[in-house]
Amino acid sequence: MNIALIAHDRKKQDLITFVTAYQPIFEKHVLFATGTTGLKIHEATGLSIERFQSGPLGGDQEIGAKIAKNQMDLVIFFRDPLTAQPHEPDVTALIRLCDVYNVPLATNMGTAEVLIRGLEHGDVDWRAYFRGQNPRLEK
Ligand code: PGA
Repeated sequence: MNIALIAHDRKKQDLITFVTAYQPIFEKHVLFATGTTGLKIHEATGLSIERFQSGPLGGDQEIGAKIAKNQMDLVIFFRDPLTAQPHEPDVTALIRLCDVYNVPLATNMGTAEVLIRGLEHGDVDWRAYFRGQNPRLEK
């Protein structure tokens, strides 16, 4: 599965802690991240992560583009609900695209925990089936 990891600055440590805790699961998947988030997770865990631009410089939109091509299966996006973001429209667009394409999305650690355990139990396997069964979205 292709998994996107994004965290706003004040949530980055939470995401590093989360990925570290579930590293044996994350190791089995293909990881993508916005620039700074990906770098910090890689430094902390050694996991291989394909990094896009930093979020404010377009990284959220790059991940959104992969969602629009139906190439992202799960998004973990620890947003900071207490700090205004210069790229708020991009954040909103990314969340919207997850809803358009039925991509499982966690915006906080509580939900992320449920998602990652579900992923391990095969609860997200329908994504692979869905991708294979919808040629319009494969293009
Ligand atoms: P960053 O971007 O990982 O480059 O900090 C995340 C964001 O702010 O959307």
